Amino acid sequence: MNKETTEVVKNLLNSPQNIVIIGHRNPDGDALGSCLGLSFYLKGEGHNTTVLMPNDFPDFLKWMPGADDILIYEKEIEKSNETLNQADIVFTLDFNDLSRVGDPLRGVLEASSANFVMIDHHQQPSDYAIATYSDVKMSSTAEMVYHFIDALAGIDKLSKEIATNLYTGIMTDTGSFRFSSTSPTTHKVAAKLIETGAESAIIHQNVYDNNSPERIKLLGVALNNLHLIPELHTAYITLTQRELDENNFRKGDTEGFVNYALSVKGIVFAVIFIENKQESIVKISFRSKGTFSVNDFARNHYSGGGHINAAGGKSSQDLNKTINEFISILPRYKNELANAQ
Ligand code: 5GP
Ligand code: MN
Repeated sequence: MNKETTEVVKNLLNSPQNIVIIGHRNPDGDALGSCLGLSFYLKGEGHNTTVLMPNDFPDFLKWMPGADDILIYEKEIEKSNETLNQADIVFTLDFNDLSRVGDPLRGVLEASSANFVMIDHHQQPSDYAIATYSDVKMSSTAEMVYHFIDALAGIDKLSKEIATNLYTGIMTDTGSFRFSSTSPTTHKVAAKLIETGAESAIIHQNVYDNNSPERIKLLGVALNNLHLIPELHTAYITLTQRELDENNFRKGDTEGFVNYALSVKGIVFAVIFIENKQESIVKISFRSKGTFSVNDFARNHYSGGGHINAAGGKSSQDLNKTINEFISILPRYKNELANAQ
């Protein structure tokens, strides 16, 4: 974090403040880990903090320290609005634009008179905050919260709770330290977090060895629905609402499925289309290898975005039309896909 941003934040925090910390809709390990880690730190500095998530999060993240105290906007709208009304400062973590919290929370944030601070690693950050700490090279927002604490007060301020949350965020967003965003510094930060009490093996178990039998069956269905387009180095998976219902789908169950498509030899672009009848959309996750930017692809065609190699978006057409449209768009990217690796 640069000196100027550090100074602005230090000034904001120089007396006890009412602080709300918000992650993106459909919070993942990084949104939760960065928000909870920051919250424990700010509480330790004498501030009054609330972590607010737009909607609920997967069961395999419910063990995270502080998770029980998270306010879920969709479940407690009045209490959330009241808390936001009293906020002096709103931290927005792990997203680059207020639209990422969904409606109607977005409108509440836009109307808020609190000072906003953004900490995020997604591309093209919007300009709504009084202090913006944005770095697209960072592995995770959790890693950025580590640097944030370091810049403000030094890492002596880390506790076991902070370390566990930040480690979980870094671990989940880097695919357990395998994605190219994992830098030497990421490993150094992880080492420091382990020294401060993050239990790496237990965190891995909590996150990855907590599958319901239904989730594994749903993975079987997804793998059966794998389609390959080898000439365009692309693979995609589909899941219908019916297939989800038949396997007792719970939030987070499809997390990571798209990586199986990307793991096929020669594939550089992988997509999963997941039907959501309740929201009348198809939610889409994109993953890529090398130079093929799924952030651009998601922005150009699916009102989405994210990072170069991991992005998301949605379609309001039905599943079949969405897939047909995708297949018709794809040949335009033939050269980029051929040269991606
Ligand atoms: P996932 O595919 O795991 O949901 O998301 C991959 C990455 O893309 C994450 O960094 C996530 O924040 C971002 N992302 C997912 N869905 C959307 C979306 O609809 N819009 C934008 N702008 N980013 C998204
Ligand atoms: Mn993230």
